[in-house]
Amino acid sequence: MLNTPQRHVVFADSLDGAIEALARGASVMGGGTWMMRAERRGDPLPASVVLLDRIPALTEVMVTDSAVTLGAGLSHAAVASALRGLSGLEGVVAAASGSANPAIRHAATLGGNLATADFPAADLAPALLAQGAEVELAASGGPRRLPLDAFLVDRPAHLADAILTRVHLPREAVMSAHARLPLRKAGDYPVAIVSIARRADCTLRIAVGSVEPVARRWTALEAAIGARPVSPDEGARLAAAHMDFEGRDGVEAEGWYRVTVLPALVKRALDALEARP
Ligand SMILES: Cc1cc2nc3c(=O)[nH]c(=O)nc-3n(C[C@H](O)[C@H](O)[C@H](O)COP(=O)(O)OP(=O)(O)OC[C@H]3O[C@@H](n4cnc5c(N)ncnc54)[C@H](O)[C@@H]3O)c2cc1C
Repeated sequence: MLNTPQRHVVFADSLDGAIEALARGASVMGGGTWMMRAERRGDPLPASVVLLDRIPALTEVMVTDSAVTLGAGLSHAAVASALRGLSGLEGVVAAASGSANPAIRHAATLGGNLATADFPAADLAPALLAQGAEVELAASGGPRRLPLDAFLVDRPAHLADAILTRVHLPREAVMSAHARLPLRKAGDYPVAIVSIARRADCTLRIAVGSVEPVARRWTALEAAIGARPVSPDEGARLAAAHMDFEGRDGVEAEGWYRVTVLPALVKRALDALEARP
């Protein structure tokens, strides 16, 4: 434990230690890539933080034929390298290896990407929603598990007494793709993201990120497509016909633009699915 006049930092080496620090008022730090820029956003840095990077359980990966479990402390780069080559998870690999820039991808964690409530452009959120992911939280009362979509809509409440420890993916998808639109150059936040996963029965899970404040499934489009094969052009046409997003205005783009590009991103993601063997 290191004390400075300004900050109190706890280097937790167990989940119990991290949960204790959280209960004493510390903020949980993953890769620090969001937290350490707090002052640039006009927010104060936390007075007390607990670091998770010495907890081995948080960087574990488990892969079976029916499921994948990812520790929340894995970096984007580690997620990409753990899942590369696994059928059905191509969209998650594309999200983890295409977000931000190489330096950020080696520091920012899976847990931090999903836990940051005021960051709408997280790449991993729609990619994991398309997989039907669940999150596991650790709290003093024991672990709890809930669907990722339920977690995303109410993160501050779920994390008030808990740490995000794992993400569980059922291996239902036979193929998946992730299409993102950064405006100017690599490293920009994407203005809109579409992730699509196809299951063995041909139904699709489609998720959208960065358009609204919280990533979510596009269930109206999923229902319109159903289980029939859909060409990329038809998918784009159905996307325009079943648009039910209200775009958020932000520094990179206005809300109407984020919504307008969605059919093209649906087409791009379906093109990527078609290109898979
Ligand atoms: C220039 C730049 C470009 C970027 N571009 C992209 C991009 O295109 N796509 C993308 O997805 N990301 C991008 N990022 C990363 C993104 O903006 C966040 O910085 C990142 O997702 C935060 O992860 P972290 O592990 O660093 O979280 P931290 O900064 O450590 O924490 C962020 C928040 O999450 C909480 N938290 C962290 N871990 C946990 C946990 N295990 N349990 C509970 N709460 C937790 C913290 O308390 C804090 O509130 C970019 C970052 C930068 C700097």
